[in-house]
Amino acid sequence: MHTIMNIVPQIEIKRLAIKLRPIGEKMVKKGHPWVFADSIIKQNSDGNAGDLAIVYDKKANNIIAIGLYDPVSPIRIKLIQFKKAVQIDSKWFQTRILESYTIRKPLLKTDTNSYRLIFGENDHMPGFIADVYDTVLVVKLYSHIWFPYLNDIIPRLIDQTGCTTAVLRLSRALQTSEKTYNLYDGQVIYGILENEVVIFREHGVLFSANVIKGHKTGYFLDHRDNRKHVGLISKGKTVLDVFSYAGGFSVHALAGGANEVISLDISRQALKMAEENAALNHHSGKHSIIVADAFDGLQKLINNGNQFDVIVIDPPSFAKKELEVSKAKNSYARLARLGAKLIKPNGTLVLASCSSRVTSEDFFEISEQNILKEGKKYTLLKKTYHDIDHPITFPEGAYLKCGYYQVT
Ligand code: SAH
Repeated sequence: MHTIMNIVPQIEIKRLAIKLRPIGEKMVKKGHPWVFADSIIKQNSDGNAGDLAIVYDKKANNIIAIGLYDPVSPIRIKLIQFKKAVQIDSKWFQTRILESYTIRKPLLKTDTNSYRLIFGENDHMPGFIADVYDTVLVVKLYSHIWFPYLNDIIPRLIDQTGCTTAVLRLSRALQTSEKTYNLYDGQVIYGILENEVVIFREHGVLFSANVIKGHKTGYFLDHRDNRKHVGLISKGKTVLDVFSYAGGFSVHALAGGANEVISLDISRQALKMAEENAALNHHSGKHSIIVADAFDGLQKLINNGNQFDVIVIDPPSFAKKELEVSKAKNSYARLARLGAKLIKPNGTLVLASCSSRVTSEDFFEISEQNILKEGKKYTLLKKTYHDIDHPITFPEGAYLKCGYYQVT
């Protein structure tokens, strides 16, 4: 049986016929999901958010892609379907969602009940995120284009995941918009949310997320595999988790048998979550917190003569704009050097970046050069990228990279 829902009133959508400049057309034919406003050379009428933009080959006049029109974004069309002309309806979304679910199946065979089912462009739904925490589905929208389709999509997500509750989260831009059809950030759009703090499992380790007030959808799922790995190497070790947020790495380290773990973050609230998450799991190691700016906090630990067997440094994105890239690289360099100073001989330094504007090549190069600049040597143990529930289908979709270095 199909779940039927009326989250939004019926929103009329038009079909727009679009033609592009040669460069834009070439990108579309390669499967890139973005069409910038300045590459549109023909459009048969004005468009509203979510109108179906049918892109035609300039010469041959056949359909090359279908997207959703976004009048307020420089990325004017977000493509969802390539090559073939198809009907974008409830059935199309059902097939789309099933394909995404199939990619995640191996992960769901592990002791994990939290995953990203829809990862925006990478699952052919630009600006649409769907995360599952146990039986709670959290949908986060970054664009108006999705409102006309919510009545088709949300029930299909519910049917596919078996979730009993759905929460809607809206990006900051949408929260201040008037065109949200009375939907609001943190709204429970299906079922009952008994507690806004939801408990879930990640490779056998328990965590909680505040799905109403937490960052993004409440938690960062992308590092799952790295956290598991840190858990596996932490037995009997001292571990420092810098930019710990809710303790993703710290709690895996504790559950993995670490003797002592320090979570360091600038946010006291995040560290409170880290403590609560640690308390959800059986562990005998000591957990302490440091509320500090990472650069100051690391320098203080160095001044005190502290050293750690395992150090994880996973900062927020330092380059949200192109202009910030060189400053971001400088910050990565400083963090690598601070980490190299604090690591015990033969310890493992784990350096991560989630800035999509800093390439993985540049990030690894910066990390490695700066370990060397500290007069240390390293063995590269491994480089990792996104976990499988964050597939990458276009260059800008890749943001996460993580290097493991044994430092001597
Ligand atoms: N490692 C985490 C995710 C990190 S998110 C995980 O595995 O889930 C980034 C975190 O950096 C946030 O918790 C934020 O509070 C913190 N942060 C931002 N700027 C900081 C700074 N200058 N010093 C320390 N922490 C900072």
